[in-house]
Amino acid sequence: MMKTFYIETFGCQMNAHDSEKVIGTLLTEGYSQVETPEQAELVLYNTCSIRDKAEQKVFHRLQQFKKDHGKGKVFGVLGCVAQQEGEKIFEKAPHVSLVAGSASYTKLPQMLVQLERGDRRVTGLSLDTADTFETPFTRRDNPHRAYITIIEGCDKACAYCVVPFTRGPERSRTSESVLREARELASKGYTDIQLLGQNVNSYHDPSPAGWRFARLLRAVGELDGIKRVRFTTSHPRDFVKDIIDAIDDNPVLCNHVHLPVQSGSSAILERMQRLYTRDEYMRRIDWMKSARRTISITTDVIVGFPGETESDFQDTLTLLDQVEYDSIFCFKYSKRPNTSALALEDHISEEEKTRRLAVLQEKQRAIQIRRNSELVGTVEEAMIEGFNRATGQWIGRTSQNRTLNFTHPLYGSLEENVSLIGKYLDVRVTRAGPNSLAGEAIN
Ligand code: SAM
Ligand code: SF4
Repeated sequence: MMKTFYIETFGCQMNAHDSEKVIGTLLTEGYSQVETPEQAELVLYNTCSIRDKAEQKVFHRLQQFKKDHGKGKVFGVLGCVAQQEGEKIFEKAPHVSLVAGSASYTKLPQMLVQLERGDRRVTGLSLDTADTFETPFTRRDNPHRAYITIIEGCDKACAYCVVPFTRGPERSRTSESVLREARELASKGYTDIQLLGQNVNSYHDPSPAGWRFARLLRAVGELDGIKRVRFTTSHPRDFVKDIIDAIDDNPVLCNHVHLPVQSGSSAILERMQRLYTRDEYMRRIDWMKSARRTISITTDVIVGFPGETESDFQDTLTLLDQVEYDSIFCFKYSKRPNTSALALEDHISEEEKTRRLAVLQEKQRAIQIRRNSELVGTVEEAMIEGFNRATGQWIGRTSQNRTLNFTHPLYGSLEENVSLIGKYLDVRVTRAGPNSLAGEAIN
């Protein structure tokens, strides 16, 4: 009887959280998790196909086991590559027996039964679902911070993006079920909640209450025991001022907003079908800049989208100066199957994309050094996430999502003080680097 499994997860927080739910489901079905694929009877890869490089990773992994038809193990490909490639995966990697996209995870127990009885080609590829994948058995990786999916899929059609094809149409959970999960988490000692979705701003409660995102955010922030609430990802088109008003009204709602811009050029934004102009994006930034607490703003940028001229790229650079992000994720445009950008001309060379990426990263690094150094001397509340034995520092995170490594006058090592993890302490910032702060605890 096949009863041990190994799972490796690629990609975004949505995938990480999906894996927590898949693991919970497998444990409930009598499987036990092991640390390496070699030890496992069932080997699962929860995949990402947002860029070509991410997609290649899973085929590379599968290749390693192709010999001897996977040595008697059962292989499953889950997530976005599964949804995108479908049954073609069985041709590319004949030792794979399960191919399932995230919209089919509710059927995982039935798919496991099929695998256990020896079926060689089990699929879960329908996108035709009104369900979101929820399970009371979610096996969470972190004992203090928990993800809650509030919306799945995406109804936008950004010209470069596979997500609408791999995660299906938008489905929101009822506010009641989100709040029930959040209350349960609080009762188990979780203090930090992250609301997840490809576009949390278009959340629309399917129950008669009909709540929109800002209302839900406020309600989660008011639950007893919850000290921090974050949310990701926001789409500028659906980002309304009510969200900033909610953050203003309750310090439990973290003063951090990730608002992907993709480009600083309105012409490129139009080609990308992002549904906003640079000016409209900047209006949202202005709301954040006039909030009562300083809101840390982060973003995603794509360089080398088809037709991006040097002048379009310069627009992105000036946007960085104008907004002064606290951090950015930047990517070279990668052609993806099914997407409308494939039909566009003027594809930029790989060398030029690499150059633009480097210029962007260098500019952003200087901005981060400047912004982080402005925090030296201030006191920040840090949630303690771990201890770095090599440096002797505790690892903390601020409400603005900055990493703050610090020493503690009384608690100098992990062995005696594991209990500090999950606590919230005030830390005086004494040094700043481009990607993190350092300091000393003052309580
Ligand atoms: N739903 C979010 C949004 O609308 O901003 C993000 C979705 S995606 C998982 C995360 C980021 O990957 C995007 O913001 C974008 O910058 C990047 N990305 C998506 N497709 C890409 C592509 N084809 N090439 C390069 N980067 C891409
Ligand atoms: Fe992709 Fe655009 Fe949907 Fe984000 S909003 S997931 S970038 S299609």
